[in-house]
Amino acid sequence: MTKRVYNFYAGPATLPLSALEKARDEFLDFAGTGMSVLEISHRTKPWQKVMDDADALIREVMGIPNDYKVLWLSGGASSQFYMVPANLQVPGKPMEYVNTGGWASKAIKEVNRYGEAKVVASSEEENFSYIPADVEFTEGSAYAHITSNNTLYGTEWNYDPKVPSDVPLVCDMSSDINAREIKVKDYGVIYAGAQKNLGPAGVTLVIVREDLVERVPDTVPTMQKWSTHVGKGSMFNTPPVFPIYMCKLALDNIKETGGVKAKEAVNREKAKLLYDVIDASDGFYKGHARADSRSLMNVTFTMATPELEDKCVAGALPLDLVGLKGHRSVGGMRASIYNAMPIEGVKKLAEYLTEFKEKNQ
Ligand code: PMP
Repeated sequence: MTKRVYNFYAGPATLPLSALEKARDEFLDFAGTGMSVLEISHRTKPWQKVMDDADALIREVMGIPNDYKVLWLSGGASSQFYMVPANLQVPGKPMEYVNTGGWASKAIKEVNRYGEAKVVASSEEENFSYIPADVEFTEGSAYAHITSNNTLYGTEWNYDPKVPSDVPLVCDMSSDINAREIKVKDYGVIYAGAQKNLGPAGVTLVIVREDLVERVPDTVPTMQKWSTHVGKGSMFNTPPVFPIYMCKLALDNIKETGGVKAKEAVNREKAKLLYDVIDASDGFYKGHARADSRSLMNVTFTMATPELEDKCVAGALPLDLVGLKGHRSVGGMRASIYNAMPIEGVKKLAEYLTEFKEKNQ
């Protein structure tokens, strides 16, 4: 067996071993074709089956209602930052956002090309360490946008914002899609770059309620219209075949291991292991996120000095605990514990952090 470490990188991130093994096993001969999945035309039946299976699996694990379309697009979640306003703009209506930092800020920046961006709440004044409370969006706005989990700061929405019934809620779920059960019908649009909790880099999942697909003005370029891709089953142009194939295999793993409900239960256990170490450390580890805004997926914390943090990151390496350095916007350390991170890895990290504190406080 090849050596595998516990990979805590924020994305691209650890993938289910079963998915990697399956891809390895059929890498040279996919579905009896005598070709790699990297080599076959996307206009063939074996490829169409991958697309159909990926669609069916994501619909099943997320419980996506029939009046929603599923798209697999290239361009990363960042392309949705401009595709959302491009597709959902309505002249004279504001596009409302909550600024929870980093990716949310980047999404907001794109809106002004299409109309007025209105920030209804922000946690910028406290370095995005919390999700603003009691957020309400305004009746008559074009849409309401949130980022369900902020990968950089380790914050996650733990309540549903108030959204008027005529306003579609749009959510960037790049770093917590399938981490916990959600009701898709509460959203107008969901998008997620795959490389954290869904699969490898190179594909972005977009889920759009049917009635919103046709809202797009004619002036929007063809490739930027969701309707273009809906009409062609995500194959208007050559799709990112390998990333979609890997997402399909990773979704097989979710289904086979009890679905999102089972993942959520383990995710809550994993996150608690690390937050408990932080909370019991008498301030040796300082959690960046406020307790009510803590992320299940990205646990962020700092220590007294950058030297101590570097020592902690370096000391984890011989134990095969990899990718723990925090993002520069927070500093310190970040443990990304997506669905594919086994609980054993998190237990090992929690033990290491407890010992490190004892030796270095
Ligand atoms: N949104 C969130 C929440 C992210 O964590 C990221 C980082 N991958 C992005 C958007 C940007 O995604 P991409 O790199 O796929 O454009």
